Amino acid sequence: MQGTANPVLRDIVLIGGGHSHVGVLHMFAMRPLPGVRLTLVCTDTDTPYSGMLPGYIAGHYGYDEVHIDLRRLAEFAGARYCRDEVIGIDRAARQVICRNRPPLTYDALSINIGSTPRLAHIAGAAEHAVPVKPIRRFNDRWLALLDRVRGHAGATTIAVVGAGAGGVELLLAMQYRLRGELSALGRAGDAPRFHLFSAEAHILPTHNAAVRRAFEGVLAERGVTVHCDAEVTRVDAGRLQTRSGAGLSADEIVWVTQAGGATWLRDTGLALDQGGFIRVRDTLQSETDALVFAAGDCAAMIDRPLEKAGVFAVRMGRPLAENLRRTVTGETLLTYRPQRHWLALISTGDRHAVASRGPLYARGDLLWRWKDWIDRRFMRKFTELQPMAAPAPAPAAEAVPLAAEEQAQAISAIAMRCGGCGAKVGASVLSRALARVRPIERDDVLIGLHAPDDAAVVRVPPGKAMVHTVDFFRAFIDDPWLFGRIAANHALGDIFAMGAEAQSATAIATVPPGLEAKVEDTVYQMMAGAVSVLNEAGCALVGGHTGEGRELALGFAINGLIDEHLAGVLTKGGMRPGDVLILTKPIGTGTLFAAHARLSARGRWIDAALESMQISNRAAMPILIAHGATGCTDLTGFGLLGHLVEMTKPSGVDAELELAALPLLDGAAECAAAGILSSLQPANLRLRRALRNQEEAMAHPNYPLIFDPQTAGGLLASVPADKADACLAALCAAGYPRVARIGRVLAQGEAPAPIRLLT
Ligand SMILES: Cc1cc2nc3c(=O)[nH]c(=O)nc-3n(C[C@H](O)[C@H](O)[C@H](O)COP(=O)(O)OP(=O)(O)OC[C@H]3O[C@@H](n4cnc5c(N)ncnc54)[C@H](O)[C@@H]3O)c2cc1C
Repeated sequence: MQGTANPVLRDIVLIGGGHSHVGVLHMFAMRPLPGVRLTLVCTDTDTPYSGMLPGYIAGHYGYDEVHIDLRRLAEFAGARYCRDEVIGIDRAARQVICRNRPPLTYDALSINIGSTPRLAHIAGAAEHAVPVKPIRRFNDRWLALLDRVRGHAGATTIAVVGAGAGGVELLLAMQYRLRGELSALGRAGDAPRFHLFSAEAHILPTHNAAVRRAFEGVLAERGVTVHCDAEVTRVDAGRLQTRSGAGLSADEIVWVTQAGGATWLRDTGLALDQGGFIRVRDTLQSETDALVFAAGDCAAMIDRPLEKAGVFAVRMGRPLAENLRRTVTGETLLTYRPQRHWLALISTGDRHAVASRGPLYARGDLLWRWKDWIDRRFMRKFTELQPMAAPAPAPAAEAVPLAAEEQAQAISAIAMRCGGCGAKVGASVLSRALARVRPIERDDVLIGLHAPDDAAVVRVPPGKAMVHTVDFFRAFIDDPWLFGRIAANHALGDIFAMGAEAQSATAIATVPPGLEAKVEDTVYQMMAGAVSVLNEAGCALVGGHTGEGRELALGFAINGLIDEHLAGVLTKGGMRPGDVLILTKPIGTGTLFAAHARLSARGRWIDAALESMQISNRAAMPILIAHGATGCTDLTGFGLLGHLVEMTKPSGVDAELELAALPLLDGAAECAAAGILSSLQPANLRLRRALRNQEEAMAHPNYPLIFDPQTAGGLLASVPADKADACLAALCAAGYPRVARIGRVLAQGEAPAPIRLLT
């Protein structure tokens, strides 16, 4: 999480985690700019390094060796990371429009989103061909193809359309891997047949004749049929056709032709070249808008058209970082001068490479080893990350030039922070931010945010009683919108665990001080996230209070409604011997976020945990009730054991927990095994006295996780044994795919410790 040593004065937003932006993040990590917040928005947390991609396909590298973990890198750089797809820019409002979340405001913007396959103009290609980009989708198809070829007797035909370096390298890599896999299965005779299609008179049109000859030789040796002057003009299911009318039946048609710019760029008003790429000056600024930069494949340098290659995207990282920095500090920008000739090391699939630089050519195994060394060295910069000491708070306002009005705000923000003052966020900031969120209206809310007053007034409908609960916690991620969603879901958990309907909520929040516009944006993002969840739950936000504090924090007092005679109420004390224990969501958020803070968790583990934390418990409760659940609670800070003990005590029962049956979030076991545990773990550990056979169970790898504190955890319920299977199936179908039976309720025995662990 980004520190709050300085108020945020300027926002730099990076769209896409391409090769240039990973460099920018790394450079800002090495030299942070006080008062400047960096935000990365990217569709994929694992971004592939193009240089090693063919090696991955060939099987020389594993998945994690060729992907940069953007969430981890962003954490290392003190940057915010938002996993989303950008679908537009509102340059007048300086906002980035995302598919799934509210817009992000920028002071300087950079775009590094690569290129998009151009399939629309070829009949049937979009439906029946497999484009190599985005790599995530191609990888899924590739893994499926590997499985299919392994499982299917007889030869497969694979057509690769596009005979540039990417297409040739990819074909040879796929062939090498498939041949190896089939030989290992004793099916060398089933080796797939490969066809390569080039629209030009020869392959590798941008490389010299010696390089072309070398690859023509390799392809011929390996039995690849090369079709030159064969532009593919139509694709049907399992068949392609070229301009001359010739056709080929193929099991897989892989598309690696020259790509174009993303379609949404056309609506930005930025000047684009014929390929739809952003025209940029030698400062990497858009020709149209000095606050918008572009780099990598999606940029087209006006004065020096460059080949679309990862090597240029990487080289642009340094000047891009410098010019983004200079844009917010008001300095003169640097010019980027790309090299005239660049060295391409193109591999032949079998740990052998061909070097191509202008008219020069060489080949050999040694070249592949050299390339491997260069690539691995590059990747180490982004994978071997150690948490850095927090930078000494430097006065942000000195680094970033501000308008007079902003200057006054910044000084007061810094003074306020140093004085530890918890002043209320300005009424206009708060009301402006809240005016943009749209809480639902309910008939039983008589006075709420739609007509704000000193306090909200809600009615308790006849026959109902009111359920009250309150929760409050500090942000554990740097994305206020997502934090708002999880904080609201966490707070609602208590209401649903009682079997109640959520009615109304009041919010209490603290926001770090800063420029008014930045504070307003943070409040808006956080409340927009929270309100989206409250609205889904049918709960009206009716009021709240926001103050300034060192850290972003949010909590809710929530009112729920329940039958006044408590019919359908599920308390903690209802468990009965013989019941089965069911847990609706996996555990492990405590250890995962502790590891994330230490840069020891994989970004995709955190992505999955964040997804799980947004799953509401609302739909689970009626299912549990319909299956005769007798007791229920939601898992939060005390961890599984703590909450189970809270149930066994009032129920007057004992319980048995099956450690091996616990559903765990991806990565939780690895983080716990590495000894990385939440700071709340020691307090929860005191409850081990409730364990009857602690000594025996301690060695089990899941043991530490019964103490792991949960944020927005699932429901722990006891269900009659004869209904358990049906209940599990219904919960799974209702959106709780990791629901599990984790133990049994036992009659209270003589032993003072109520819980027995099965190992
Ligand atoms: C098979 C193959 C092999 C190659 N081998 C080499 C090689 O050896 N050397 C070389 O120099 N080049 C190689 N290339 C070319 C190279 O892949 C590209 O030039 C390079 O990836 C471009 O990098 P980039 O930084 O511009 O974008 P990319 O690497 O494509 O990264 C773009 C990022 O933006 C994200 N993104 C895209 N759209 C959005 C959106 N709307 N919102 C948010 N995020 C978004 C993506 O998820 C991705 O993380 C190869 C290409 C292929 C197909």
